[in-house]
Amino acid sequence: MKTPNQKIESPLLDEKEVTLYIKREDTIHPLISGNKYRKLKYNLLEAQNQGLTTLLTFGGAFSNHIAAVACAGHEQGFKTLGVIRGEELEGNWQNNPTLQLAHDHGMQFHFVSRSEYRHKTHADFLQQLKKTFGEFYLLPEGGTNKLAVKGCAEILTEDDASFDYICSSVGTGGTVAGIINSTQAYQSVLGFPALKGDFLKVDISTFAQNERWQLITDYHFGGYAKVTPELVQFINDFKKGTGIPLDPIYTGKLVFGIFELVKQDFFPKGTQILAIHTGGLQGIKGMNQVLEQKKIPLLDV
Ligand SMILES: *Cc1c(COP(=O)(O)O)cnc(C)c1O
Repeated sequence: MKTPNQKIESPLLDEKEVTLYIKREDTIHPLISGNKYRKLKYNLLEAQNQGLTTLLTFGGAFSNHIAAVACAGHEQGFKTLGVIRGEELEGNWQNNPTLQLAHDHGMQFHFVSRSEYRHKTHADFLQQLKKTFGEFYLLPEGGTNKLAVKGCAEILTEDDASFDYICSSVGTGGTVAGIINSTQAYQSVLGFPALKGDFLKVDISTFAQNERWQLITDYHFGGYAKVTPELVQFINDFKKGTGIPLDPIYTGKLVFGIFELVKQDFFPKGTQILAIHTGGLQGIKGMNQVLEQKKIPLLDV
């Protein structure tokens, strides 16, 4: 599946003589983040091949992955089980738009404490889940595994061969690894982590098949799902100027970071940049609830 590249017009880009296009992977599906769609594609085929009818995965209250697994499972006839971080959500998930969306698409929840959640990759914990819920196809938190990386290697197409830099947001690193593996020998990849942490370089290296990439670690805005008024303003202005909605957790930070690099003359004149809009727009509602409580201006919808 090919998604369109949209040219971004801005005085800054003109002044610095660089061009920026955004690949609209967010248009793949209204509820499934573009990259999650890619990450699930080969995994759901594998689940089918193994004859499994239930998908089990892990996530927090704002997880695009949880929403994606629920919606994709619903469309393709799988039962879905979400192991959700935070016992306090148990009686309270109806107030969370992401969990509400997942529930509406048939996902059954199993709420666990934060300390229990840390065991999510341990064999004992998984065995216990099998005892309770029966056999399932396991999708790791964030959905990153070999088959997910394979799916994300289909984001770039032959039409993208003219770009010098490909930029993508990074959560667990599966998406950017797939992109890295599908670049041409003269292209470089910039990954913009949406969270703090040095582990990402190692995680990406596990799947990356070349060295033509680096991480730009200055634009996480304090950590995963942390948002500032400056970021909200940027996202709202960008939408007004281009018509493109960005999400506050991943793609807003990515595009903000790209503009900062352009200001700093990181890119030589004539550089052609392609930024991947991985989606995540389902998360705006939930983020606005948080912003409202903190009395931070809201994201335009
Ligand atoms: C999950 C997600 C990411 C991060 O993808 P990883 O493969 O975990 O790095 C980026 N953007 C959006 C919109 C996402 O939902």
